[in-house]
Amino acid sequence: MKFERKYFGDIVNHNGSLFLLDKFISDKLLHYKSKRNFDLGSYKKNYVSALSPALSRRILTERKIIARVSNQFSYGQVEKYIDEICWRTYWKGWLEHRPKVWYDYLSDLSSLDDKKNNSNYVNAVTGKTGLECFDDWVKDLLEFGYLHNHTRMWFASIWIFYFKLPWQLGAEFFYQNLIDADPASNTLSWRWVAGLQTMGKKYITYQENIDRFTGSRYKFPEQFKLQDNLVDEYVFYEPSYKDRESILSSSSKKGYIVIEEDLSFENVKKNHHVLIQSESYNTFNQSNNVKLLSDEALKQAIEYCKNNISSKVTTFNWQNPSTIEKWILENSINEIEIIAPTIGKYEKLIPSTFNKLDVKIFYYYHDWDISFWEHADKGFFKLKKKIKNIVSFYWETPLFGTS
Ligand SMILES: Cc1cc2nc3c(=O)[nH]c(=O)nc-3n(C[C@H](O)[C@H](O)[C@H](O)COP(=O)(O)OP(=O)(O)OC[C@H]3O[C@@H](n4cnc5c(N)ncnc54)[C@H](O)[C@@H]3O)c2cc1C
Repeated sequence: MKFERKYFGDIVNHNGSLFLLDKFISDKLLHYKSKRNFDLGSYKKNYVSALSPALSRRILTERKIIARVSNQFSYGQVEKYIDEICWRTYWKGWLEHRPKVWYDYLSDLSSLDDKKNNSNYVNAVTGKTGLECFDDWVKDLLEFGYLHNHTRMWFASIWIFYFKLPWQLGAEFFYQNLIDADPASNTLSWRWVAGLQTMGKKYITYQENIDRFTGSRYKFPEQFKLQDNLVDEYVFYEPSYKDRESILSSSSKKGYIVIEEDLSFENVKKNHHVLIQSESYNTFNQSNNVKLLSDEALKQAIEYCKNNISSKVTTFNWQNPSTIEKWILENSINEIEIIAPTIGKYEKLIPSTFNKLDVKIFYYYHDWDISFWEHADKGFFKLKKKIKNIVSFYWETPLFGTS
């Protein structure tokens, strides 16, 4: 899916992403339900929001989105859109219940290195397979770092069931190149396509489906047929959920830390010391596109904080974490508050860094996450039943009659 350059400038900052949200709301939201599955090739022609890079970094929060849509539409008019937003929340919660799924995936990856010499793999990641649609999607992914949801599903399906490549390598390729890369949505969606999320359910696509939703713009070979080959055995992962609760610092000498995975500043109180990550932390070999976008998002977040929340801003990067200790000492900080990192790059790095320092750490959880995650232990349908109830807390007008 193609973008104009301006989109990348807007998506990384708080005002720009709200501008994109407003534009999506006014131009497309009412058609979202009927047209969201079509990928006609460009941001302009499609009816999805492309706000995921802002949502995955929480430049834009669910709370803000609901506030914006709820004063313009009835719940019924935007229910499908809200459901999709809750898919992200669901995947995040599902993985929080089962961190082992992420670590098993990483360990699988480390044993698959030799498969990267396979010509199917090399052709796939360079967009030289000869399958026109697939090569076009690879080109878009490498150039823009974004693919439409339906296209991601077709891509993963073709990767696994046509080229017969390991799903883990496909998930890695996406994670390294998507500007909305998220350990939960990405890994679990790949697992879902491969039939590992829901027992007995694989996603196997076919030409007519791709034709229908792409305006038949791709040519296919005569014998284009995916095969239901065995991927991996389905493994049941027992959920082990610990209750989350925001326990906040009450110290007058507290400081806040803000990292790239959550730029909402939702917990940060005015005029306190804030230490903000200045550069993305690239532990998974993410592409230059992803790095540049994350770096720019951090730069914009620093400006946003200075202009709107606190001028007492210091920056640090993970290559040189000694700045953190210096900041603590120079500002006599005895307690630190941070939005709890989720499974991925930071959930181990944060406690291991701060446990070594003479400072107490407090974790803040978004109310939105706490309310939903307890219902994310099974299938999406269980959580779906709770959506309207939970969303009613964020809706501008009462969603249910008062008694
Ligand atoms: C194989 C595969 C890999 C994926 N990897 C990622 C990833 O790394 N990061 C990521 O954010 N999403 C991922 N998704 C989910 C989904 O494709 C994207 O969130 C969506 O395409 C983003 O585009 P949008 O903002 O235009 O979505 P919209 O349709 O406008 O939806 C609004 C928001 O809802 C959320 N959302 C929508 N659909 C889904 C979905 N199916 N699953 C989870 N959340 C959803 C996103 O936050 C999105 O921004 C993946 C899906 C598949 C099939």
